[in-house]
Parts: sequence; C-alpha cells; structure tokens
Amino acid sequence: MNCPKCALCGGEAAPYSSAPHYFGCENCGFVFLDRTKVVSRPDEKERYLKHTNGQGEAGYAKMLEEFIKICVTPFTHAPGPALDYGSGPKPVLAGILEKRGYKVDIYDPFFAPATNFDPEKYGIVTAVEVIEHMKCPLSDIRIIADILKPGGIFAGRTMFLAKEDFALWWYRFDITHISFYSRESLSYIALETGMKAILFKEPCFFVMKKNG
Ligand SMILES: [Zn+2]
Repeated sequence: MNCPKCALCGGEAAPYSSAPHYFGCENCGFVFLDRTKVVSRPDEKERYLKHTNGQGEAGYAKMLEEFIKICVTPFTHAPGPALDYGSGPKPVLAGILEKRGYKVDIYDPFFAPATNFDPEKYGIVTAVEVIEHMKCPLSDIRIIADILKPGGIFAGRTMFLAKEDFALWWYRFDITHISFYSRESLSYIALETGMKAILFKEPCFFVMKKNG
C-alpha cells in the first residue's frame, strides 16, 4: 500500500484503525485523513453554516466559558490584544472576550479571511474547535506563533485522540474533521514553532506559550 507522508511532520505514516483513508504517524503521534479525501471547500463552508455546535446556543456559551476559565484567564495577567483564529460564521467567543476587556480581532478562512496580521501583535490567540479542520496544521500554527508577542499564549480546544476505537469515535464522523492530535503531536507543533506546551487538560484543552 502506498501511504501518504505524515501531514504534520512529513514522517512515515501507516493505516490507522479499521477506518479507511486514515493514517497515523509513529514519529509525532498525529492521525489524519488522507488529504486526497478531504471535503471540497464549498462543501466545507456549507457544513460550517449549518453547524450548530451540537449543544444549542446556551450550551455553546457554557463551553466557551469553561474554555476561558481553563485556558485563558490563568495565563493572561491583563486583557490585551487578542485574535480569535477560526472564528466561524458567528464570532461568539470574540464577543465574550470583548466584554471582559480584550481587544479582539477575528480571522476565519471562510468568514473573515483578511490576513493582514501584524507580527508579534497579540498577547493571546484562541482557536476553539479549529485545529482539527486544518489541512496543513504546522504552517497554520506557525502563522499563529509569528503573530504572538514573545511570551504570548496560544490557547485551543480540540478533542485529543482517545483510547477508544478510532473507527467508532464520534469526533471523526464530522466530515470537516481531518486532523487528530495526541499530546505528543501538540508538543511537536510547539517545539517546531518556537513555543512550549504548558497545559494539557483532558479531554480537549491545550495551551502553548511562545518563547521569549
Ligand atoms: Zn508525524
């Protein structure tokens, strides 16, 4: 079988679980959908427009509050310039952070695509349920690292690879979820982008801090 190279580190990958077209990397622990099988851009956008986050608006806001409590507040001493990366069709998190005094910019490849980022501008970049959609996570997160101030925080949420059978794992059934991370893969990303992983909280929270 001709396996694609790891879509995170470029290492050797092998078929992962009994789910067809998924591959896992022994070098960095990353699991990914074969990039020739990912959904088209128009279909991807359509899916985001229909996405209700599964929990209703109140449940979604509660999830965001939990994210802020675990990943944002403990690591930012005072509100400052922030970017919500992958803000989606409705920038709910940006609104909540602004109420708390942050000055929030948004970026989304479909809904807020301007990329005139200033280097080293932000004290914090957030990415809630975003990196599992990234086709090229290392280059995307390198951009995030570049726009963080030295010592700035990259705070995110994505479901970590679980011990249960990947073929049956609910998280992979969203057709736009194409990249799956272990702690090892996130630590690899931090190392490669000049950051350090400073928090992992099961099942889904992580924080990286830019060096300097
Ligand atoms: Zn890899």
